[in-house]
Amino acid sequence: MGSPPPPPNHSPHPPHAHRRRHPGFGLLLLLLTPLTLLTPGGCTSSVNSNTASADAPRIRVRLIPGADSITLACGVPPLYQLSNQSVSQPLNRPKNAIFTVTLTPQGWMAGNANLGGTLGTTLHLQPDHDGTVSINGTAYRGKFRFVPVGGTKFDVINELDIDSYLASVVPKEMLAGWHDEAYKAQAVVARTYALYEKQTAGLDRYWDVWPDTRSQVYGGIPAETNQSRQTVNETAGIVVAHADVSGQPKIFKAYFSSCCGGISQSATEAFGDPYIPPLSDQDVHSACRASPRFAWGPVVIDKAVLTQRFITFGQRRNRPEKNMGALDRIDIQDQNRWGRPTRFLISDNKGNKYSMTGEEFRWAVNTNATDSTLLYSSFVKIISDSSQIRFVEGHGWGHGVGMCQWCAEKRAEDGLRHEDIILAAFPTAVLVRAY
Ligand SMILES: [Zn+2]
Repeated sequence: MGSPPPPPNHSPHPPHAHRRRHPGFGLLLLLLTPLTLLTPGGCTSSVNSNTASADAPRIRVRLIPGADSITLACGVPPLYQLSNQSVSQPLNRPKNAIFTVTLTPQGWMAGNANLGGTLGTTLHLQPDHDGTVSINGTAYRGKFRFVPVGGTKFDVINELDIDSYLASVVPKEMLAGWHDEAYKAQAVVARTYALYEKQTAGLDRYWDVWPDTRSQVYGGIPAETNQSRQTVNETAGIVVAHADVSGQPKIFKAYFSSCCGGISQSATEAFGDPYIPPLSDQDVHSACRASPRFAWGPVVIDKAVLTQRFITFGQRRNRPEKNMGALDRIDIQDQNRWGRPTRFLISDNKGNKYSMTGEEFRWAVNTNATDSTLLYSSFVKIISDSSQIRFVEGHGWGHGVGMCQWCAEKRAEDGLRHEDIILAAFPTAVLVRAY
């Protein structure tokens, strides 16, 4: 209660929270200028998701990892180029025919046509225009890279401008029918998240984001809506930033989740990230109570089932839980200043105790879980019975860090503009133009 934020990295880092690399901010910082034009009436931009600004950064989505083969369909022949060649040439296949692309010791195969190359050759594909190439049945904007990752397996990377990417992400992350201002808030936050990943984890690898909840959900062109294209365009270039001790605004990992359950948690307590005020915990006074996951439970799971889940969780991450005995009881070990649990203590019948952050605990409980025994969040109370654990008075869905989408929608319905929705979600943050 009322305790100050814990020191950075006080807990093991979770699997999908990428380590920060502060030196990676240089490029973006040069582009950031205080956004003084963000006045009622909106931020103006000529950027269109189909004809993106030349300044718009490009995002590399790791669409398919480690594929043995994919299917391709082309409305117009794209150009292809191998990494060991200096010229590109048309990929001539019958219009709209579906064919497989594979990597073999003899090179890349498109259907029965050998395109050349070897097991280590990257294949680049440049569509004639957006939407003319479908991969595994889905059309995407931008261009593609097929990167060998060992033997005949390859990654499919889709590279496109960030606003075209966001036009597909926002409707996948928000509900249809939600308010334009909530959509705009989501567009700004998702833009910031993607650029942060590009500026940090993306520096060391050939891709920036996953196309799913490991980063943000992306569905190519079919996922886009008129509302998402319009709201992304109207906020083009805008990101949320935090002024550090130097006074220079920097983007940060702008987390968001479905429903905070009324009390959010800090990124420090959830993921062990360094503490910054925009990612602190808040009591939002049940603003997101309309969410179907605002209140849930009980979820009842046999101790024997949970024991196996914890052991499997420990084995996958090489944590001490891999050797735990039969589960005896679970207690809340710590909570934040508003009363949301932040740390759990698991005791086995051999007297061993295992401490987990709330997010580690949620992942551990959800290891191989079925829908009926899923823990929607770590905002829950626990009753340890003789043979079962009863999770009661659950609140929220997701990690509850950063912007709560159901809170954002409520604030939009209350008449808040997207700028104020974002700043309510990220205390002390500022909005800046990144491109
Ligand atoms: Zn909320």
